[in-house]
Amino acid sequence: MIKFLSFRSAAVALIALTAAFFMTSTSEMKPIGAEAVGNPLLAKWTGPYGGVPPFDKVKVSDLKPALESAMAENLAEIDAITGNKAAPTFANTIAASERTGKTLDRVSTIYGIWSGSLSTPEVEAVDTEMAPKLAQFSDKITQNEALFKRIEAVYNSPAKKKLTSEQQRLTWVYYTNFVRAGAKLAPEQKKRMSEINQQLAGLFTKFSQNLLGDEGQVYLTLKSEGDLVGLPQDLKDSAASAAAAKKVPNAWVIRNTRSSVDPFLTYSERRDLREKAWKMFVNRGDNGDARDNNAIIPQILQLRAERAKLLGFPTHAHWRLENAMAKNPENAMKLMEGVWPAAVARVQEEVADMQTLADKEGAKIKIEPWDYRFYMEKVRKAKYDLDQNEVKQYLQLDKIREAMFWVAGEIFNFTFTPVTGLPVYHPDVTVYEVKNRKTGKHVGFWYFDPYARDGKRSGAWMNAYRNQERMDRETTTIVSNNSNFVKGKPGEPVLISWDDAETMFHEFGHALHGLSSNVTYPSLSGTNVARDYVEFPSQLLEHWVSTPEVLQRFALHYKTGKPIPKSLVDKIKKADTFNQGFATTEYLSSALVDMKLHLAGDKKIDADAFEKETLAALGMPNELVMRHRTPQFGHVFAGDGYSAGYYSYLWSDVLTADSFGAFTEAKGPYDKAVAARMIKYIFSVGNTVDPAQAYRNFRGRDPNVDALMIKRGFPVTK
Ligand SMILES: [Zn+2]
Repeated sequence: MIKFLSFRSAAVALIALTAAFFMTSTSEMKPIGAEAVGNPLLAKWTGPYGGVPPFDKVKVSDLKPALESAMAENLAEIDAITGNKAAPTFANTIAASERTGKTLDRVSTIYGIWSGSLSTPEVEAVDTEMAPKLAQFSDKITQNEALFKRIEAVYNSPAKKKLTSEQQRLTWVYYTNFVRAGAKLAPEQKKRMSEINQQLAGLFTKFSQNLLGDEGQVYLTLKSEGDLVGLPQDLKDSAASAAAAKKVPNAWVIRNTRSSVDPFLTYSERRDLREKAWKMFVNRGDNGDARDNNAIIPQILQLRAERAKLLGFPTHAHWRLENAMAKNPENAMKLMEGVWPAAVARVQEEVADMQTLADKEGAKIKIEPWDYRFYMEKVRKAKYDLDQNEVKQYLQLDKIREAMFWVAGEIFNFTFTPVTGLPVYHPDVTVYEVKNRKTGKHVGFWYFDPYARDGKRSGAWMNAYRNQERMDRETTTIVSNNSNFVKGKPGEPVLISWDDAETMFHEFGHALHGLSSNVTYPSLSGTNVARDYVEFPSQLLEHWVSTPEVLQRFALHYKTGKPIPKSLVDKIKKADTFNQGFATTEYLSSALVDMKLHLAGDKKIDADAFEKETLAALGMPNELVMRHRTPQFGHVFAGDGYSAGYYSYLWSDVLTADSFGAFTEAKGPYDKAVAARMIKYIFSVGNTVDPAQAYRNFRGRDPNVDALMIKRGFPVTK
């Protein structure tokens, strides 16, 4: 298919980025070289249900020749379409394009995994070389005049009305995306556009490698028991295994990733070490060394601004949002600025609570950013008698996974069964077959890669190895969930936080979005939807973590096996909106800086100064920082995917909060009729329906922002 392809999973996103650019045709491409002959990456996948990725046959040295050969094949396929003497029709142009690039799809899946989950200097070298080439290849397709003329002819043809609604939508998607990528530009503009895209691809790669380097190679070493004061046993254990993995003898190691640093900041009694850990983490990409990202950012911004101008948009933000649900930056800003004052006001209250507690304890300190999580935890205990560490004893990684499967059974009628014998790319990865519980039909495979390791980017994300479609034959999907939990002692369960449990459900929501897909054409399948809509299904699924049905069955104490007591659940519920000031402000400050950076046009920008000035103007409280500071903002600078798009999580959360009301207004989260409607109108339709319309189909009306404010415990203002 001529798809939005991200050749490498470039971004540190919660969801793998699928959207980048369309691709196009011919010349200059190397013919299939001798090195490609017999390259196992080019072969059709073998195994059950249309085959599975041949992870056991991957050699890094095969990646480059496989990509080159697959690109050449794809361009030849496009030539066959443009060389067709028959007048353009949906079948011989749009549908034909959907059939192209299958080999490149398969190779890109493998390439993306090696680049994002198994990176080494050898893989980085392939990335550095191939990223600009892939961008150039992509432009060859979008700039292929003969192909665009055919697409345009189908789009403008009166025969379009006779197509199915999905075919009409697909035609619109092709036409719009070609135009958005510059198909209508003059030749010299197209040339410049292609140069810009290649330069950007190189810069994205460098940005992401710098970040990966700082996360993997920088860490905090704890040398004695005295450095561990306050840490719960499971954190000590994971710090010990991190030290073992890093081969640091007689010590403990805190990795420079969120899943290691956040718990340390929460529990360490050593304020000096908290400050060290905090500074290490918030300065990723910002250390003035070889991996510093500050010089890369203004180059990316300039190139994006120039590209937007070429395409006739005032700024990159305007271009990005044109085909998003928000439509324009003003709508996104209006939502963010509407929520911001309530979030900041709540931070002031939270800081006041923490300061009072610190004073009462005689700490003689002023709350600093490295104190926030530590005192927040103390306030949580004091105010709600709620101890996160006590909650954690009931949250075992394996049990939470079982809980996800159980919810998928209740709501989606899916069963998950472990499969052995299929190739995996790392011994930590497990594979499950997904079936429909009612019909027994195979739905797809789900790969799970839960643990942190060097060469794997931080965070959590979902990825589709293959999209569901039924153009020529029923093709089932293969999806994966990835996270960065730190392994505990061998044989002991991995305990995770409440937030982690929600994140697991979130990523699983993306996976279910992919698995529920029920469409004809691959480009419209599963999670290939607007960026500010894609987080809606995933965020919606987070709501099921706290249902009593899940907690009683799966929130079992790791030692006694007893379910979490009702009194503790009540406390969790009561503290539901606790700390929303912090959570919303650290997120929104990132989203606002992202948008403002991309609304600044071609103004020369010093990333550091811009960040400082923008935050000052916003009235950012001193006691916390952006969730992703500019030099480490992989969502925005490791690819185009979430650029001027980090607001998407809030936009989607408006839908999430409002839509969950459909359940609570009925019989509750397990209401079968509402669940069936949710699957029919939201989870199964992919991009075959306009998202605003899909939402209306489900909810019977447009979303209302009040539900979001209530969910976060903020006052509803009119
Ligand atoms: Zn997500």
